[in-house]
Amino acid sequence: KVNDFDVIIIGAGAAGFMAAITAGSRGKKTLLIDHSAKIGEKIRISGGGRCNFTNKYASPDNYISSNPFFARSALAGYQPQDFIALVEKHKIHFHEKKLGQLFCDFSSDVIIEMLKKEISNLPVELLSSTHVKDIDYREEHNLRFDVICQAKSFFSHSLVIATGGLSIPQIGATDFGYRIAKKFGINIIDPYPALVPFMFDDDMTKKYNRKFFASNAGLSFYAEISTNYKSKKISFKENILFTHRGLSGPAVLQISSYWSDGQEITINLAPHVDIFDYLIKAKKSDGKKKITTILKEIIYPEDLHAESKTKLNRQAVFTDDFVKQFPDLKNLPDNPIAEMPENLLKSIANSLNKWTLVPDDTEGFSKAEVTAGGVDTNELSSKTMEAKKVPGLYFVGEVVDVTGWLGGYNFQWAWASGFCAGKAV
Ligand code: FAD
Repeated sequence: KVNDFDVIIIGAGAAGFMAAITAGSRGKKTLLIDHSAKIGEKIRISGGGRCNFTNKYASPDNYISSNPFFARSALAGYQPQDFIALVEKHKIHFHEKKLGQLFCDFSSDVIIEMLKKEISNLPVELLSSTHVKDIDYREEHNLRFDVICQAKSFFSHSLVIATGGLSIPQIGATDFGYRIAKKFGINIIDPYPALVPFMFDDDMTKKYNRKFFASNAGLSFYAEISTNYKSKKISFKENILFTHRGLSGPAVLQISSYWSDGQEITINLAPHVDIFDYLIKAKKSDGKKKITTILKEIIYPEDLHAESKTKLNRQAVFTDDFVKQFPDLKNLPDNPIAEMPENLLKSIANSLNKWTLVPDDTEGFSKAEVTAGGVDTNELSSKTMEAKKVPGLYFVGEVVDVTGWLGGYNFQWAWASGFCAGKAV
């Protein structure tokens, strides 16, 4: 019958589309439902409008999950080169920005068009602006799932939940996936915003308050940022950016996925140099120089080893003005370095090589690129994404407790997990 399907997929984002393409290619009669009127909004805004659609080096090590082994099978079954082949088939121009991150040359719209084109020749029907009110499960029936929408119901043998996480509710994110999981007694790992900037309070009694960051907003340093996660030290070397509310930039977004309330982060503002060692040498060889002049020589806005080093702009970042505001440095004597005792040099070096601070919060789901946590992977088969307790029910993409790093890894998970379920339904 017209409302009966082999598979219904709820959520026409990256994971839902890939599940539809894969199931449709196997001849499965598929219905892809989304409540938004505009399809693929998350893809459209991704990667600053150019969609960082995969990462050439994606591996299970680039993902966070309560079960770090869960993603292996799906990631091995659909790899970055598989998606690259699809993109090439559609003659989409792309480039590697850095660190294996592949971006469209012009606009992410071409990825949305590609996905729509792929389903157009398949037995896949796409329904936008469609709100699912509830789902019933009829255990004995061949069409086990009754997907109840506003005006009518649709029936299917398999149901794939691809409704994403809670990030950016402004463009359609909902807790639908978690609600369905709960309805079927499936455990959820508490969702939290990830790949998200840090915020600091206005509280002027605190050493690092919002004013310090705000008055340096726009300043960017190449740095190493670290925190402890499950008794392991996690670090990223990339840029950090001062904002009006606190800290952002790629290194900060990366570490935020491993951060929890009240936890310390450590920033090394000169990851390529042991500052103490450098200062001791400078004390001997350049004794007349002021300490701030020397620090300017070693603290940079960009990665010295990056290809862009020819464009390196050394002067602007570590200014006298910044030093005067930096809580650990503001009372520095302005003497020549030769007159400074070693213990003072040690404490200066520590505050820059091991700048330790505790963010007050993150900017939350409205600014987070992804949602960490989600459907507990112990509840799913890693080979198919099917719920162990509910035959025929699958969860794919961001709604699952698998969260990638910044840099194309989250789309790769969406493609891979969508493919995995699309093959199994
Ligand atoms: P989504 O893409 O979120 O799709 C879920 C779909 O479900 C949506 O279409 C939504 O409308 C629909 N939906 C939700 N609730 C319901 C409901 N109740 N009923 C029906 N439909 C519903 N990752 C990268 O790898 N590279 C990037 O460059 C990148 N850039 C990003 C930039 C931004 C600003 C953001 C917010 C994220 C970015 N990400 C990026 C992350 C990436 O977009 C997501 O991880 C990925 O889109 C997840 O895919 P998904 O299909 O699981 O979920």
